[in-house]
This record gives sequence, C-alpha cells and structure tokens, in this order.
Amino acid sequence: MTRLIFLGPPGAGKGTQAHLLAELCHIPHISTGDILRACVAEKTPLGEKAQGYMDRGELVPDELILEMVRERLGQPDAIAGWILDGFPRNVTQATFLDKLLQELEQHSDRVVNLDVPDAVLVERMLSRGRKDDNEETIRRRLEVYREQTAPLIDYYSGQQQLVSVNGNQSMEEVTAALKQLIES
Ligand code: AMP
Repeated sequence: MTRLIFLGPPGAGKGTQAHLLAELCHIPHISTGDILRACVAEKTPLGEKAQGYMDRGELVPDELILEMVRERLGQPDAIAGWILDGFPRNVTQATFLDKLLQELEQHSDRVVNLDVPDAVLVERMLSRGRKDDNEETIRRRLEVYREQTAPLIDYYSGQQQLVSVNGNQSMEEVTAALKQLIES
C-alpha cells in the first residue's frame, strides 16, 4: 500500500514524478491542479470560480478545494493507495487532510519534498508553456509557495514523515530515488 504526499515548489517536477510512480504502483495520481484545470476547461461552476485565482498564481480558496479532495479520496480507486500532488498547499489544508485520513482510517506513508533551486524552477516553468507559466505569475506562485506551502515542511517534519529528495537531477535519477524510497 502506497500513500504519498508530494510537496515542493511549482516547477519541481511533482506532476511528472507523481504520474510515473502512480502508474508503477497502479494507484491514482491525485493532482488538485489537474482536477481544477479540467473544471476550468469544462466551465463547471467550480472551474469558473477557480480560474481567476489560477491565472493570477494565487491559491484557490480552501472552501473550494477541501470538498473536492474529500470527494476524490472517497472514490473506490483510492482505497488501493494514492499519490497526492499539489495538496495540501497550506496549514489549513494539511490539518483538514489529517482529519479526513483519520475518518477514512488511512494514513500517509511519507511526505516527499522535492528540492530544487529557484533559478532552475523558473527555467523549467518557462519552458513548460502552461497558461499560468508567464514570468509574472511564476514569480507570484513562488511567493505563495514560500509564504503558505513551505511552512508544511516544518509541519510534516514534526510528524516525522518528511523525506527530502534532490529534484535537481535528471528525471530518471529522481524517479530512481523515489522508487528506492517507496521500496525501503
Ligand atoms: P499546480 O498544477 O499544482 O501547480 O496548480 C496550479 C494552480 O491551481 C495553482 O497555482 C493554484 O491556483 C491552483 N491549485 C492547485 N492545487 C491547489 C490547492 N491545493 N489549493 C489551492 N489552489 C490550488
């Protein structure tokens, strides 16, 4: 059973690595960013509310995110395990997740922090070409990460679940490091 939370700044490679590992373990890759982008594309009410925040590089308000995650983790495929990518993003979300996992009688195995220097993050995001990957939004997303998401490193190291992986290596090397971690 694998249940992992991927932390790390935008552009660290969380999405790519979470996707690869989830396939390998036959468990769902749950990316709140992907779910939100699908809602925006389908113009659902949630998508319409979320779009402005995403375009500005701000976090979408917790009240829109929390029920979305509750619903997703409650789906049958998540019983076999999961990789959470992009959630939690702040302490409120992390506290909510702790309670939700208690209710579901589950617990995360590890919280993986992908470490990548800022200059490399910006370079990677600029080459990705996503709608919210312009210079101004990238700068704002890095600020939001530092202010709201980076404190989760302390939150989870207090719970002794945190592992840091050097994300500033080739994609294959990062995948190999992550595989070793889940097999250990
Ligand atoms: P990501 O694909 O994880 O980089 O997310 C893209 C954008 O979606 C972020 O910049 C936020 O606007 C929004 N987003 C994704 N996950 C969350 C979350 N857990 N809480 C709030 N906003 C989120």
